[in-house]
Order: sequence, then structure tokens, then C-alpha cells
Amino acid sequence: MKLTEHIELIGSGQMGFNLTHPLECNVYLVHDGDDAIIVDAGAGCDIEPILRQIDQSGIPRTSIRRLLLTHAHPDHAGGVRALHDALGVDVYASPLVARYVRDGDERSASFDRLCGPGGYPEDYAFAACPVADELREGERITVGRLAIEVIETPGHCGGHVSFVLRRPDGVDLLSGDAIFTRGRILLQNLWDCSVAGSCESVTRLASVRPDGLFPGHGTVSIERGWTHIYSAMESIGSMLPPPQLA
Ligand SMILES: [Zn+2]
Repeated sequence: MKLTEHIELIGSGQMGFNLTHPLECNVYLVHDGDDAIIVDAGAGCDIEPILRQIDQSGIPRTSIRRLLLTHAHPDHAGGVRALHDALGVDVYASPLVARYVRDGDERSASFDRLCGPGGYPEDYAFAACPVADELREGERITVGRLAIEVIETPGHCGGHVSFVLRRPDGVDLLSGDAIFTRGRILLQNLWDCSVAGSCESVTRLASVRPDGLFPGHGTVSIERGWTHIYSAMESIGSMLPPPQLA
């Protein structure tokens, strides 16, 4: 589903647009010219609908050479191995997330907690996957004429990163689970979730002042994305965490 000139939505579950498997996060395809990258891998319960979305976008599978992960939770990283194998993409993640992905470390990535109540198949597992390179603060990845910049945004969980997409005519933010539209965040009772960390990351993202906001769940904001982050900043300014996504 085309969102902008450079961003396609190729996966989204019941917390979003119900485009693909219900457990999926929002999966984005960022493209320019003959280069394209995927941001987040979805849950991996069934990658066929994602592949169909790619084909419907008209962007050739052969132009997709990389996949970036925001974090290692199952709805974002569970499909990484399957997409790696199906598309031949190189996988990129923060050093911490890279470690979880390489090891298929279900405990550190909270698969054991998150997959319990959520309707995941009984044989669901975190399939270990090679990671080509690790993403650190300030690193830049080019996609055609576009530049994607890495911002470390822990808080929702450890090792979480967001991606700032700089295009000739504006700035978009692919924020994973660090910030959602209407200024919401997602705090869960998981070992590496931090209220203070989440608020600090939102504060960092406010300085990006993005035009488009493309989060890991829910709806997107094509323009004036910064207004959503500023609304979260009102809570933070009152020493309160912003409202929850759920
Ligand atoms: Zn998450």
C-alpha cells in the first residue's frame, strides 16, 4: 500500500491496517530508484502476504537488498529469518538486537512473555538469523537519493533504534515502538522496558521535527508528524509518561 512517494506499507496487523497477518507490526518498504530497504520484519507467522504486498507495489524484489530492525520483539523481528531467506536481504540491527537475532535469544527479546497471551502458534520460535552489520547512533545508510540516519531510542526495550529518513523535500521518522501517533508510547511489564528511557527517547525524537511519522503500530501521519511528538512532550513536561498505545 503506497503511503508516500518513497514509503510503502507492506505489512500491518490488527493493531494497524490489517493488511497482513494479525500479529504483524507495521512493515515498511523505503525505496528510491533501484534501491529499497525493509524496516522491520513482522511476526513471521506467514510471510506470503508481505511478499504479495511487495509484488503489488511494483518494486522488484531484486531491488530490496537490506532489512533494518528497530528492535527484537516478536511482532517486529519474528519474521527476520524468513524474509532473509526469501529475499536474500542483509539484516542490520543495533549491537544488542543483533546479538539477540544471531542467537535466536527468545528470553532477551521477551518472546517468552509476549508470545504467551497473544495468539501466537504453539510451535512459534525465534529463528536465529545472520546480521550483516550493527547500527549505531548517527550512522547513515543511503537508499538511492535518500539517507536514513540511526537514532538510539531505548526505553520501550533495550537496543531499540529509530530511523530518520531524509529525502530531498522533507524528513520522515520511522519510529518503531518508541512513539506512536497521538503522542502515545508503549510501556510493557518486561525486563528491559523503562519509563524514564522512553521519555528520554521521545524527547530526542522531538528534536527531529519530522514531517511524516511512521510508527510500528497503528496509523501513520503523512504530514505534521512532529505534532504527535509534541503532544507527548506535553505530558513529559509535566513529569508524566505520555498515554499508552493500548
Ligand atoms: Zn515492541
